[in-house]
Amino acid sequence: MINTNQILQKHNIRLTKSLGQNFLTDINIIKKIVEAGDISASDLVLEIGPGIGAMTAELSKSAGKVIAVEIDKHLIPALNETLGCFSNVSIVNADIMKADIDELVKDWTGPLKVVSNLPYYITTPIVMMLLEGDIQWDTMVFMVQKEVAQRMAAVPKTKDYSSLTIAVRYYSDPKLMFTVSKHCFIPKPDVDSAVVRLKKRDLPYMQDIDKNFFFKVVRASFGQRRKTLLNSLGSQPWLRGGKDILRQALVKLGKNENIRAEELSIEDFADLVREI
Ligand code: SAM
Repeated sequence: MINTNQILQKHNIRLTKSLGQNFLTDINIIKKIVEAGDISASDLVLEIGPGIGAMTAELSKSAGKVIAVEIDKHLIPALNETLGCFSNVSIVNADIMKADIDELVKDWTGPLKVVSNLPYYITTPIVMMLLEGDIQWDTMVFMVQKEVAQRMAAVPKTKDYSSLTIAVRYYSDPKLMFTVSKHCFIPKPDVDSAVVRLKKRDLPYMQDIDKNFFFKVVRASFGQRRKTLLNSLGSQPWLRGGKDILRQALVKLGKNENIRAEELSIEDFADLVREI
């Protein structure tokens, strides 16, 4: 196991809070994250934000290849030292939001898995970019803030069920794997964390639905989640036919007029979009 404090001191690294630099120091948690990805020699792993490489080293023992994309150039010399002995690791100094991921992964013919202890300041943009983008991933394992993991893997009729849940479920089967105490990091973050696994899925019943309109409806429905669907979605100026059409659609789908967004499954939203 890499000694985080020693490496930080040796390379005179000052951690940057604004880049979400909270490094995992618990080898058991690192091993559990790698296990959650069920990684084998046929897999290419894209790791976002390797830090000083503690998880990268474990990933490289199971994966065929690891591409680790780190934004902070001050960490690159430390990564070169900690990962120098792993021939299947490539370190890329780039912002994952700007990197050409297609180009990075294009030569690999096996499954692509994304594994990351995500920088928390940019969790949702990174997750949405990967979900909505064109790269052909198989599984993604993310450590995120506990509340975000709960929202990603939520089920209907709970307070965590949100438009993020629907977006995640649109592309994947999410599973909350385990929670991680803030004491497992240097420096200690303000919040506890959790690991969530997303397995890619196809949605045959969504094929006839316009994706942009679907998400417009979902966002408007959850926009004012305390209101009934008739009052949140029904009051949108762009909804042709307004509340009347929506009321008719709900009746047709056998739903109560006073239903709220959090009571609808992703399949219910798909049916609703077909009706309105
Ligand atoms: N993987 C390491 C670990 O588990 O100990 C570090 C995780 S730390 C929570 C997040 C890492 O992401 C930091 O090393 C940070 O510099 C890096 N990072 C932040 N924003 C990034 C971005 N836009 N693109 C790539 N890496 C980024």
